Order: sequence, then C-alpha cells, then structure tokens
Amino acid sequence: MTRTSNFNQTGCCTANGEGTVLLIHPPVAKPSEPPPGIASLHGSLNRHLVRCDLLDANLEGLLYLLKQPGKPSDRWTERAFRNISRNLSAVRKPLTYRNLDRYKRAVVDLNRALEMSSQSTGARLSLANYQHLKLSPLESSNLLRAAENPAENQFYPYFSERLTAILRERKVRIIGFSLNFLSQALCTFAMLGFLRRNFPNVTLAAGGGLITSWMRRPGWANPFAGLIDHQVAGPGETFLLSLLGLNADGDAHFKPKYDSLPVADYFAPGLILPYSASNGCYWNKCSFCPERAEKNPYIPLPADRVVADLRHMASSMKPVLIHLLDNAVSPALMKALCENPPGIPWYGFARITRHFEDQEFCMALKRSGCVMMKLGLESGDQEVLDQERKGVSVETASKALHALKRAGIATYVYLLFGTPAETLKAARKTLDFTVKHGDQIDFLNLAVFNLPIHGPDAAGLQTGLMYEGDLSLYTGFIHPKGWHRVLVRQFLDREFKRHPVIASILREDPPLFTSNHAPFFCMQD
Ligand code: SF4
Repeated sequence: MTRTSNFNQTGCCTANGEGTVLLIHPPVAKPSEPPPGIASLHGSLNRHLVRCDLLDANLEGLLYLLKQPGKPSDRWTERAFRNISRNLSAVRKPLTYRNLDRYKRAVVDLNRALEMSSQSTGARLSLANYQHLKLSPLESSNLLRAAENPAENQFYPYFSERLTAILRERKVRIIGFSLNFLSQALCTFAMLGFLRRNFPNVTLAAGGGLITSWMRRPGWANPFAGLIDHQVAGPGETFLLSLLGLNADGDAHFKPKYDSLPVADYFAPGLILPYSASNGCYWNKCSFCPERAEKNPYIPLPADRVVADLRHMASSMKPVLIHLLDNAVSPALMKALCENPPGIPWYGFARITRHFEDQEFCMALKRSGCVMMKLGLESGDQEVLDQERKGVSVETASKALHALKRAGIATYVYLLFGTPAETLKAARKTLDFTVKHGDQIDFLNLAVFNLPIHGPDAAGLQTGLMYEGDLSLYTGFIHPKGWHRVLVRQFLDREFKRHPVIASILREDPPLFTSNHAPFFCMQD
C-alpha cells in the first residue's frame, strides 16, 4: 500500500513516555483541504509536549480506492478508470480552474471511478458522500452493526492495514476520531469496531460536530458505551489534555497545526488553509438554526490574535487560499482583516449586514484578499426573513450584492425553501429577487428546509411525521401553510431551476466540491 502521508516523520516530543495520541479524520468528506478539527487538537497537544500524530484517513482512503484496479462495465467508466492519474493531477493544477468544462470532466470522472469501485459493496461512494443501501447513519443499531462487521466496509482493506501498521510501529495510548458529518459516521464506526476488537487496550474517543449534535439532544442516552470510551461535545482540547493527566488553561488558544498532514495531496490547486476564528454564531437568533437549537455558545478569538495567526500561518505554510470556517465571520474580524490583510486570498460565510452597503468597506475587503463571500440570504421575501429572525432586509441584501460585485468579490448565495413562514407566493418572491440580481450572484446553493428536532420553534408545529432513526437531528412536520416538501421540490425543479438566469448561475457551480472550489474560479486575474 502506498502511503501518502509522512506519518513516520511526524509527532512531537513525548511528555510522559506513556505512549502517543493518534487523531483520525475518517472517510468520507470532501478531500479538498486538510481537516481543521484534528489540526486544532494537534496544536494544543503540541504546546503541552504531548506526542501526537494525525491521520487523514479520508484523503488516504479515497486515494487508496482510486488506485485499485477497476472493472469497467461501460465506456464512461473505462475512461474514468484510465484517466484517474491525469484527472487527479488536473484538479491540483490552477490552469484547470480556468476552464469549467475541463474541471467538470476531471471531477465527474474521478467521482465515477469511485462510485463504480463501490458497486458490489452495498455502499454508494462519492467524493463527498458515503451511503449504505441497508445501514443508516441515523440509527444507532446500524452504526453498531457497522462496528461489528468492519470487514464489510469498503475502506476496510485500507484502514485495517494502515491502522495495524501504525499501532505496531508505536505505542498509541489514545485514538481520537473527529466525526463531523453524517457521511463519515458508518466508516468511523467500522474503524472503531476494528480497533476495539484488535487493539482492546487503546482508549477510543470521539468528538466533532456530529458527536456534539448528538450529545446536545435533550435526553441523550449514550448507545455506544461499550464501543467508545469517551465522547466529547464541543471543542475537545481541554478534555483530551485532562485524559492525559495534564492541566489545560481553558482560555488558552493554540494555532492549528497542519504540518504533519500530506498538504500537497489534497484535491485543490494548492493548499487551502482552514481556520476557525470562532465557535457558535454572534447573531444566534435565526429561528430553526441548529446552532441555536443546540445552544452552542459564541466563543470568538480576539481579532488581533486571528490576524496574527493567519499572517504567521500564511508565511510558514504558503497556502493559496484561506478558508474561514466561522458560521458567520464577524464585522469586527472583517475590519481587522482590512487593516491587516493576511497576504493570501480568503473567503468565508458572512451575515448580510449593512456594512456591505458601504462600497468603501467592500473595496477594503477586496484589498484584504477577500475573493468570495458566502451569504445566507435564505429568502427574497421580507416577511419570511422577519419571521425567521434573520435580521436581514431585502433592501440591504440588494445593496450588498451590488457593492460586492462592484468591488470584484464573488458571492455564493444560500437560499432556503419550505420554512414554516414560507408560501408559494413568498418562494416566487425569492425567485424574482434572484433573477433581478442574476448579474450580482455568482453561485447559488438551494436547500429544502429541515426542522431541528429539539429546536425551540419545533414546539409550535405538528411534528414527528417520519421516523428516520434515533440519532436523527431533524424531524418531519406538517407545514402550517400547506407548503409541503413535495410541493417545494416540484417548485424548485419545475420553476425555479428552469428560469434561464438561475439555470445559468447553477451551471457555474463546481460539481461535488461546490463552495470549496468556487473561489478558484474567481481568483484568475
Ligand atoms: S446567522 Fe447562521 S449560524 Fe447564525 S443564527 Fe443565523 S442561521 Fe444560525
């Protein structure tokens, strides 16, 4: 098996000689950038002189599968298998991002090769997802089944060999999984099951966004007690240190440490540096927002600290793009970046605030390196926005889109359909707004609303119509205005997406990688 990371050369000095920590980013998640969760933990452990290794099992696992000989059943698949190396190198070249058709062919063909490699495994694998035909990641009994039968997982040949080699090579005391997306859950549990059975003395821990969401459900009763020794909600730094018998300074901040990851192997034309300047959201008012439903506190880093970190990491790591991971980059941080640009292009998610009405502010953002703003507009109907407590006015959104366009900053606009406040008439206002601003919107994300199962606003709705699993974070509901999901989907497919202005925006969206690759199409001048 070919190793893609320089695992043997990594690690920090050992504080106590009692073995090391191994942190794993499991498959499947988009392999476009190094995983921030384990890099952040690594930063903290490193500063406490704890030996720690990182394993991006997602990237390695996907590359491993792409290297296996495939059995093509049709001409497209045959071409996809034949061109894997060429397409991999294409997605890593900036030139490819100057030609959307060439880019699309490379990504779609790589995806085809992966998809077809999973044909006989009962799973449907893509560059961004892992679905099993019989096992649901929303059902704890299914996750435990995945743990009991790790050899049935498509990544088993990769992770059984890789983990065995690592654990034979060094004494590992704790293995931590960073589980953030549902698409990672079944593979995480297969890996946990393998480790539990073959290395019973290693302590197994799991944290990350998905584990946090599960644990913050009211009435959470841990169904994984026999399998996972420790589950952690929220940032795991303090917990991990305490597990090692070390005291953590709760307020201390440590830069994420990416250098032991195979930074040249990601599916991107250069290193994307992910950085989180805050946890939670400074607004925290939108109804039906999962952040609010989970009562995640807002914990920002001081803006000057963020600026210093970014400048330091930009100079030492030489990324081509900074990805700010915040739910909403605060205006204070944007101003700080304008005053002290990181020297590297950047993008992130922001609320549509009146700051963006100011042309000079947008020009300063552009000068700071901002290439793209992701904006959660959700609706083009003021009543819907007000009822959702978005704190956004349609008028401000219009001015912001114009000002950002004039400044040369691309926009990736997120729309949400089927919220309890919406009707067909309101959805058509969103359609009109989008068409009217077609020249100012570069990319669009269209989503159908999901109701957080334990959010404060679910109480006023008739819920519980569909049972998806005991770990589901969302629930079905009867739409109070009759604007049901099936009607929403019909509207999107038959009316919204068919409008020529909208269809032409949607055609610009990079397949599978969407907003993770979109900035590269805006960085060409
Ligand atoms: S801005 Fe986004 S993260 Fe913040 S409360 Fe609204 S939906 Fe939630």
